[in-house]
Amino acid sequence: MEAANAAATTVVRGAWVLSMDPARELLRDGAVAFDAGGEILAVGPWEELRERFSGAEVVGDGNGIVLPGFVNCHTHLTEGLITGMGETASLWEWFDRVVEPAGRVTTREDVRVGTKLKGAEMLLSGITTVNDMSCHRNLGSLASLGAADGLVEMGLRGIVSFGAENLYDGAPGEDVFMAEHEALADRLSSEPLVGFRLGIGTILGVSDELMTRSVAACAEHGWGVHTHLAEVREEVTESRHRYAGRTTIEHSAHVGLLDHEVIAGHCIWCGEHDLSLLAAKDVAVAHSPVANMILASGVCPVPRLRREGVRVGIGTDGAASNDNQDMFGAVKAAALLQKVHHLRADAITAIDVMRMATIEGARALGLDREVGSLVAGKRADVTLLDGNTPELAAIHDPWQQVVYCATSRCVSHVWVDGAPRVADGRLAQQELREIVVEGREQAIDLAERAALGGESVLTGGEGRAFPASAREETVGVV
Ligand SMILES: [Zn+2]
Repeated sequence: MEAANAAATTVVRGAWVLSMDPARELLRDGAVAFDAGGEILAVGPWEELRERFSGAEVVGDGNGIVLPGFVNCHTHLTEGLITGMGETASLWEWFDRVVEPAGRVTTREDVRVGTKLKGAEMLLSGITTVNDMSCHRNLGSLASLGAADGLVEMGLRGIVSFGAENLYDGAPGEDVFMAEHEALADRLSSEPLVGFRLGIGTILGVSDELMTRSVAACAEHGWGVHTHLAEVREEVTESRHRYAGRTTIEHSAHVGLLDHEVIAGHCIWCGEHDLSLLAAKDVAVAHSPVANMILASGVCPVPRLRREGVRVGIGTDGAASNDNQDMFGAVKAAALLQKVHHLRADAITAIDVMRMATIEGARALGLDREVGSLVAGKRADVTLLDGNTPELAAIHDPWQQVVYCATSRCVSHVWVDGAPRVADGRLAQQELREIVVEGREQAIDLAERAALGGESVLTGGEGRAFPASAREETVGVV
């Protein structure tokens, strides 16, 4: 029977297979076989699979590394066209300078085009699953649906939420925000690869009524939640002032939000009670080390969270606060940040970081029954790294080689649900150049509509690149 189906079977071969299956996380000279329907048939020694699937298409020459597609646990696809600005700003300043002006005019088409651009970047970085929170202030435009459109076009697996926040001047009534959640859930209801969560941009950003209605909607529909918690120190101070001494984590528990399935970005500024709440409520954490460093937000207590049994995945965070969607950068930063913070080279290991970037991330999103590890019966989200590259020519230790040596340039092939998305280092089903040209034109248009001339040279203005004053202010501050 296997011979009859062999022609429709793909066998991916590597010098190493990092299956992330606890039963055998690492296989030397291994292979993964999956069928045309996208189901993994077998993971095992290459010699064994070669015999068993003798007529199959074989990809990989036995020098590379096969791993599950990366799970990017946290991003904002609404930021796909506003990258590389605001480097001297911390979170709240950066939001005012870059994200808010763009968010006021962002359309569904902006987000669709930006999602395709960043989707291409993610696929070429070995990412197969992405957890998105699309945030904007152009209510009525249903801009967050553009992320759904773009992910479906790119063939990525993912979850999209609308990161609602309504505490700002001129915000419409709560009904309008709830309507966008509903519209996004409807848009995604029949998509096989992209699911929905209810988004809450920040706890401090929503009115009591919107919070109450959001919690009620989760109870009614069984929706999971995607939010940010304890990202910056000033969030804790502001929250204690506003919510009778409660932190945002404590307030989330107080209003019942944490009684639902929650993944929260960051969780940096956690006190002991916050940590115990995250563990007791089984809140998953999306750690985005690059964004945390760019915005000078702080250091997530990753080892402590994991010791407490909290599920911790790795995210790139949005393209405006990373400022790319490169998973290798996020993975390496996740290791480096803990080492330098604790001044201990053994603060975290490459194998732990790889678990967070794959199976633990899938667990954080509730997708670990389908993806996150290479196991027969799971879906075929597979990334092959090319061993014939300067970075991977000599693999002394496969875990460290991926975390510290590999870059996106090493990504040779990517399959999502068994479908080829990257082949020989190029997008398999899309023209990258067309996506880039479309993205560039849309970014110029958005920058002009958002009047981003103070930050962006794309509008024809000087941005912050030319004035001498902008350069001087960054010299000798500390
Ligand atoms: Zn975020």
